[in-house]
Amino acid sequence: MSKPQIYVERTLAVIKPDAVHHADEIEDVITRSGFSVLQKRKVQLTPEQSSEFYAEHFGKMFFPSLITYMSSGPVVALVLAKDQAISSWRELIGPTNSLIAKQTHPDCLRAKYGTDDQQNALHGSDSFTTAEKEIRFFFPDSIVEPIPIGEAAKS
Ligand code: ADP
Ligand code: MG
Repeated sequence: MSKPQIYVERTLAVIKPDAVHHADEIEDVITRSGFSVLQKRKVQLTPEQSSEFYAEHFGKMFFPSLITYMSSGPVVALVLAKDQAISSWRELIGPTNSLIAKQTHPDCLRAKYGTDDQQNALHGSDSFTTAEKEIRFFFPDSIVEPIPIGEAAKS
């Protein structure tokens, strides 16, 4: 019989350059909302790294300015864990466009800290596959496998 495994869903959150000066406040909201912060890094992305992170948007009209924005200052990347972490974090950050968020979801983080359809303060992975890929982007040595219960108890 194989060992039982425990798995708590994880997602990648990024505090974008326009909101890094509010990082402490945002991390407070994160923990008060029941997420555990498993890993955290403050890094300055090069335009090449920003392009790789947002490769799915290559060729879109807003791609060049998105890359300039994302590499304009440091970002804070966090691995968050919680039951339903991916959808739960997306819900907390709110709609992509902060101007719309301010109208429709005034309590969400993009309404509070973002400015417009681009400078929206926060990123959240949109699926399990993207979450694992994006976590590896910022934390290449991250352990992604579930931990067998017996092993977890030993450490
Ligand atoms: P989300 O971040 O909500 O997953 P997308 O994946 O569609 O949204 O877009 C990635 C990022 O690109 C957005 O967070 C935002 O910063 C920027 N962006 C998206 N759509 C536009 C747009 N129409 N004009 C300018 N920037 C945009
Ligand atoms: Mg997206």
